[in-house]
Amino acid sequence: MDNLSNIGVIKDVLERHNFTFSKALGQNFLINPSVCPKIAEMGNAKKGFGVIEIGTGIGVLTNELAKRADKVVAIEIDDRLLPVLEETLAEYDNVKVINADVMKTDLHKIIDEEFKGLDVAVCANLPYYITSPILMMLLEERLPIKSVTVMVQKEAAARLCAPMGTRDMGAVTVAVNYFSTPKILFNVSRGSFMPSPNVDSCVMRFDINEKTPEGVTDEKFFFRVARGAFSQRRKTLANSVSSSMKIDKAYVLEAISKSGLKADVRPEKLSMEELISFSENLLSAVNSKGQQ
Ligand code: SAM
Repeated sequence: MDNLSNIGVIKDVLERHNFTFSKALGQNFLINPSVCPKIAEMGNAKKGFGVIEIGTGIGVLTNELAKRADKVVAIEIDDRLLPVLEETLAEYDNVKVINADVMKTDLHKIIDEEFKGLDVAVCANLPYYITSPILMMLLEERLPIKSVTVMVQKEAAARLCAPMGTRDMGAVTVAVNYFSTPKILFNVSRGSFMPSPNVDSCVMRFDINEKTPEGVTDEKFFFRVARGAFSQRRKTLANSVSSSMKIDKAYVLEAISKSGLKADVRPEKLSMEELISFSENLLSAVNSKGQQ
């Protein structure tokens, strides 16, 4: 639908379909006509690319992606939006809408089946209630993608692009720094959404790095350690990891010491190299003592 960025048209579509917003699903739809073209252009929606969109809403961003990319696969959890999307995306034959929870979707399979011969990018105005889990999943799955371009809450952006070893960091910061180069592209005011949220937002792009840091022998274990380390803020690394991963504290302290760190080090003080060294030493301790 050509004029879908017009607020009058959006209201008319929503009213005709008796649509009511679900707060639980993070439904704040974009109504500022300048934002979606910018996300599409800066998010690699172009010839030669297939784009995965997460959370279509009524399809305002999907329209802009479909105009520019070779193909779009859009994943939307709310089946009440399917009849709306049939109307708003009717003119595009390069869009496939999948009614599913993105966290339970096999994105490798979608990329293999739908984007043969194309480069792939992800673009989304993310539901805020699961920003970090979605981002971590997109990165840790090692999908063959070039970039992830997403709208996030402004305060989440600080954590997402925090360098390692700084106060703002969390487990998602580790994943972001491990797999990508993050960049804040532009700010979006709360008035650009319907209903308007209590916070401003910004659009970020994560360019996927060709190489990941060296020294990790078991990536799944490394990210379990990262999650464990940041699961209880304000606790020491030893306490957080031993209680969340249920590993004897003596083994955790041994791994900390072997990595040349102080026994009471806090997770947010660690550099990437230190976290990798700690994770590797912990893995050896756990394997040699048969504990996990
Ligand atoms: N892209 C639209 C826009 O910009 O107007 C909608 C963005 S809205 C912030 C987030 C969308 O994600 C909603 O349509 C919501 O139903 C959908 N959503 C929420 N959780 C989801 C999940 N787990 N998997 C797929 N879609 C989800």
